[in-house]
Amino acid sequence: MLTKFVSLLWSLFMLTSCVAQHPCDIVPGTFDSWMQGATSIDVVVVGGGASGLSAMKQFQGGKRKVNSVVLLEAQDYLGGRVKTVRTSIEATGKTVLTEDGAEWVHGGRTTDLYRLAKKLNGLAPDTKTWNIFFNRNNGAKASPLGYNIRRNLMKQCETKKIITPYFQKPDKGFGQCFIDRFDQTYKKLKAPAAEKEAWYFYNEQMVNKDQGTDTWLNISARDALNFRGADQWDQWKNGYDTLINYITKSIENSKLKLNSPVCRIHWDNESTDRVLVVTKDGTSYLAKHVLITVSIGYLKEHRELFTPELPTTYTKLLEDVHLGVADKIQLGWDKPWWGNKYLDLTMIWTEKNLPAEQEWLYGIMEFLSIHQYPEMIQAFITGKYAKLMEDLPEETVKSDIMQLLNSVMSKTLQKKGLSAVPEPIFFRRTTWGLHEWSYGSYNSYVSPVGADNGLKTRQPLAKSVKNSYNKQVLIWGGEALSTTRYGAVDGAMAVGKTMAIKIKNLLA
Ligand SMILES: Cc1cc2nc3c(=O)[nH]c(=O)nc-3n(C[C@H](O)[C@H](O)[C@H](O)COP(=O)(O)OP(=O)(O)OC[C@H]3O[C@@H](n4cnc5c(N)ncnc54)[C@H](O)[C@@H]3O)c2cc1C
Repeated sequence: MLTKFVSLLWSLFMLTSCVAQHPCDIVPGTFDSWMQGATSIDVVVVGGGASGLSAMKQFQGGKRKVNSVVLLEAQDYLGGRVKTVRTSIEATGKTVLTEDGAEWVHGGRTTDLYRLAKKLNGLAPDTKTWNIFFNRNNGAKASPLGYNIRRNLMKQCETKKIITPYFQKPDKGFGQCFIDRFDQTYKKLKAPAAEKEAWYFYNEQMVNKDQGTDTWLNISARDALNFRGADQWDQWKNGYDTLINYITKSIENSKLKLNSPVCRIHWDNESTDRVLVVTKDGTSYLAKHVLITVSIGYLKEHRELFTPELPTTYTKLLEDVHLGVADKIQLGWDKPWWGNKYLDLTMIWTEKNLPAEQEWLYGIMEFLSIHQYPEMIQAFITGKYAKLMEDLPEETVKSDIMQLLNSVMSKTLQKKGLSAVPEPIFFRRTTWGLHEWSYGSYNSYVSPVGADNGLKTRQPLAKSVKNSYNKQVLIWGGEALSTTRYGAVDGAMAVGKTMAIKIKNLLA
């Protein structure tokens, strides 16, 4: 009897754990009760990341202030993919600051964001000096000549004249340009033949890193060319959330609702020309316009958010744009064990003999000291390797990465008289691919097929959806809509601002 009961419980457990749960699966109430209890409002902003917050700032300022507005954020903090983490370390009594998401003020020094960061005196001084290593995965020195291949090929493939033939229909993919030019460029660099395959793989992974893609052939060559702005490496000295706190200060507190996931959007109703927006706890709003700033990953994963379904013209576009996965793995010690400076370690895989369960490590190409901590390092991991890593328990990730560090830094350890890399006192890894409010990381990217289908710019994605009353009720926001700065904070902010102005005009 007891055995039967236990087995029943186990079956129930298996059944529930197999069905993916999402906080929005169950919402109390019915359409009628939500309609009855709804608060009338001009605008609902869905999502409190850089884009949604910039829109709110625009609504709250300028000539035509919009007062009847609320921002609904699913999580317990504002910033979304800008997420500064402060951890107190018991062993040292210090608090360290790390970034799960955005870290650098990219885009060059002429962007509004850079100017704002300067005005706020928010940027960290760049006084770092580095211990630079080029190592093979077994610890032997690698030739730095191979390293130049990346910059060299990037420069070529970002040149309009060179990349244009790659997107004359059919779009052949950004990676094809690198593939075609690798051999010749490698030869010119006079880098060792024995490392050629390893630098090829490095190069491929670094391009994947920029987008979070599984393969560099998945990135439309045209979309890659559209992206503008230098990868500036300026950092916020007190965390990226300095920016979020600054924007938030200009917004009335009562208009920002945390822990308020939007779970239902009824955008075309018989009884009203407005949109019914319902949050997880059944709170509802009847809005003239809804600005949706959730990630493209979330939109793809949760189409049931909308009733009726979104028009097929829009859902088709969603099939052509994707959100890549990139994660960070961070480790810290009380002092740097590799030298007395910040670590800059580039590694290449000259030997690929990992057991299947450790193959995710092939996605690691470098370790760099982070923020203002010479004793902390970070590795990026992207695409399919990031997804493999996310499925592993944290302890396994930690022990695998330590094993890799011990191997790749074996010569340095010997020189320092260390038998092994000391046990870290800080460890953190992100899991953006599995994140239930993001489903991906930085760059939304257009596939080659997507570009051929008409996504030559991001404009089609920005086209708002009209209801049966011919009202533009669903307005889109978020980084994915920026043709030139997708996947970046400044791009997300610019889109938020533009869309808020659009809504102001619609309300006028
Ligand atoms: C690992 C990583 C590193 C990065 N590095 C950089 C960098 O160095 N420099 C740079 O410029 N950019 C970087 N980025 C990219 C940058 O963070 C994003 O492009 C930008 O923050 C996106 O802002 P957003 O407002 O468009 O989207 P998000 O920040 O994703 O905001 C969307 C918000 O919507 C919320 N949401 C989702 N679903 C719902 C729902 N149903 N109801 C209510 N709310 C919902 C989410 O919780 C989130 O807060 C990085 C990102 C990652 C992940």
